[in-house]
Amino acid sequence: MSPETFSWPHDPATSATPIATSALEVRELAAGTQTLRILDARISVCRACPRLVAWREEVAVQKRRAFIDDEYWGRPIFGFGPIDARVVIVGLAPAAHGGNRTGRIFTGDESGNWLFASLNRLGLARTGTSTSVFDGQALINTRLLAAVRCAPPDNAPTTLERDTCRPWLARELALLTEAKVYVALGGFAWASLLATLEQIPKPKPKFAHGARVDLGDGRFLLASYHPSQQNTFTGRLTEEMLDDVLGAAASLITG
Ligand code: SF4
Repeated sequence: MSPETFSWPHDPATSATPIATSALEVRELAAGTQTLRILDARISVCRACPRLVAWREEVAVQKRRAFIDDEYWGRPIFGFGPIDARVVIVGLAPAAHGGNRTGRIFTGDESGNWLFASLNRLGLARTGTSTSVFDGQALINTRLLAAVRCAPPDNAPTTLERDTCRPWLARELALLTEAKVYVALGGFAWASLLATLEQIPKPKPKFAHGARVDLGDGRFLLASYHPSQQNTFTGRLTEEMLDDVLGAAASLITG
């Protein structure tokens, strides 16, 4: 995809996309959003979490030496993938020099390299890398998103930030009406999906790599360790382990 054919989302219903500046405004704007494209636009300008807004913008100005010539996105990261996706993969939050730099989730960092390579091996991504919004990458039957949309310091959002951002997640999941399989990458995403999805069995299932929950209506929730460098460098998560979980998701939508 060339820069000429890519466009950032905008809200065609208004001359300026409304900006959420508080948890209440996130709830109200998310609840009133009727299409995924408009939701993407509203997420992309959100400023409801002061600490995260300051961090994402500071990182975007200071930059990492390796990316000193890049223009960082420095804003919230909306989901990536088609509206009729049947597999929905949820991570924790954008990386400071990954998604926060490139503007696409799991793009421009090592976690993304692992994830997109696996998705490509399974026929769920056009190519095995994701380096920029202009790289021509496309997901197939799959949408990627984060439980928290802004890069947090130390990859650790606070409880308040997690809860403030949750209405964006809840609305996105509601708008993804064809979704049949949800995959949580890591315990944080698992807990976020348990708190957001309906028909979660009680007691709530615990996170474990390879866990599978039948939501009872033809939908499933699966779990994988997050493809963070901490997990992949130590061998806690191997390519085969990630392929097994994502392959199970691919099988569930075709079976
Ligand atoms: S983390 Fe979510 S709620 Fe907080 S500023 Fe970013 S997009 Fe808004």
